[in-house]
Amino acid sequence: MGEQIPRIRHLVLVPLPYQGHINPMLQLGTALHSKGFSITVAHTIYNSPNPQNHPHFSFLPMPDGLSDSDLASGDLVSNIQVINENCKESLRRSLEQLMQEKELQGDTISCIISDELMFFAEDVANNLKLLSIILRTTSAATSFARCGLLKLGGEGQVSLQGSSSHDLVPQLHPLRFKDLPFSLTASFGKFAVLMEKAYSNRTSSAIIWNTIKCLEQSTLEKIQQQSQVPIFPIGPIHMIAPPVSSNLIKEDRSCISWLDKQPHNSVIFVSSLGSIASLSEKEVAEIASGLANSKLPFLWVIRPGSIRGSDWIELLPKDFHDAAGDKGCIVRWAPQREVLAHPAVGGFWSHCGWNSTLESIAEGVPMICKPCFGDQRVNVRYVSHVWRVGLELEELKREEIERAVRRLILHDEGKEMRDRATKLKKKFEICTREDGSSNYSLNELVNFIMSYDSLWCKRPQLG
Ligand code: UDP
Repeated sequence: MGEQIPRIRHLVLVPLPYQGHINPMLQLGTALHSKGFSITVAHTIYNSPNPQNHPHFSFLPMPDGLSDSDLASGDLVSNIQVINENCKESLRRSLEQLMQEKELQGDTISCIISDELMFFAEDVANNLKLLSIILRTTSAATSFARCGLLKLGGEGQVSLQGSSSHDLVPQLHPLRFKDLPFSLTASFGKFAVLMEKAYSNRTSSAIIWNTIKCLEQSTLEKIQQQSQVPIFPIGPIHMIAPPVSSNLIKEDRSCISWLDKQPHNSVIFVSSLGSIASLSEKEVAEIASGLANSKLPFLWVIRPGSIRGSDWIELLPKDFHDAAGDKGCIVRWAPQREVLAHPAVGGFWSHCGWNSTLESIAEGVPMICKPCFGDQRVNVRYVSHVWRVGLELEELKREEIERAVRRLILHDEGKEMRDRATKLKKKFEICTREDGSSNYSLNELVNFIMSYDSLWCKRPQLG
């Protein structure tokens, strides 16, 4: 009889295959790899990560069953359901095999860490009696708002108020009805089914959160009080993990040498869609005119295919390039964190995806916020109203855009936002130091996983 200590502890990560979910999951893998774990990433065929960017990880592909028409529909809620239906068996089979291989080597799979929307991975972990932990990649405020939205939907209040109302939502201060995290494409009923699954009857033993105490302490406390399992807020994960790129689109680094030639704090960095949303030709024309008319330098990310009806920038107004002159630089995809850290960047026009929001604050860059859908609406409200490091753009109209850019880059109001963002940046640096709250949570997480490992190990040795 005796305790067998595994030589290598393996973690299996299961990201949701969208950029804003892949990035924090693979950053988490990098952070945990640096703590001595070995990492296997179980990924869908759709949007599969590039193994060359992660030479220390192993990869397990899972057939996801997503058809071309599923992908073309842009219906995220349905596609997440398809992924959940199709990946379970393949993950179970692959992990059974992996567990046998590891056992023979005297190693162990410690845990499955899955995105909060990859429900099947939790089922597989239960089935194989593995520790299961979920990663939430949105803000804590968004979780709170989603639960509140479900409740309001159940009470029939959501349709009564309409989602564009400026009225405050009872019990969800400071959110207005227009800030609630509705889906873009799915009906409320369909979206509610997905959210119910994300927030009720979870069986995981812990929650990792890509957020930071100094930003969301009170919301995190409320959530922890209601939670049966420990919560580890270790964000922004990119600040506690060794640097890693998990971009699905090739970054165009030429924009860094363009930025090198621009004056300090002068450039508005425009990445107003993130990795999913898209724009009509008319909306793009408004943005183009607003930027050109501001007469300030801009770096604009236009993701291929994000202007509906064109491959890239074919539908930009004909006179745009003349109007913008050498004031503008357009790229397909930017090294965003490096851009935000560049001294020439004075502001960030963002859709306020949660990663972009954290990355902007982490560099002390104030924002122009124009959400597209979902959690971005909640983030915008917090950025503009609670943390006050950004201004909300109400409408995609050229005059309003021109005014917002000039207010942020040139006016005192923008400078005050930059000062507040700089203060938050300093707090982020403190929280992500070796002795800061995010690193403390990361170490607690490691201890938590190890404590399960040792329980697993206390078993009779063969022979
Ligand atoms: N991103 C990037 N280059 C770009 C645009 C985006 O590297 O040109 C990265 C960005 O740094 C962030 C992620 O893509 O980490 C987008 O995630 P976010 O949560 O902000 O938005 P989503 O794409 O999920 O809407």
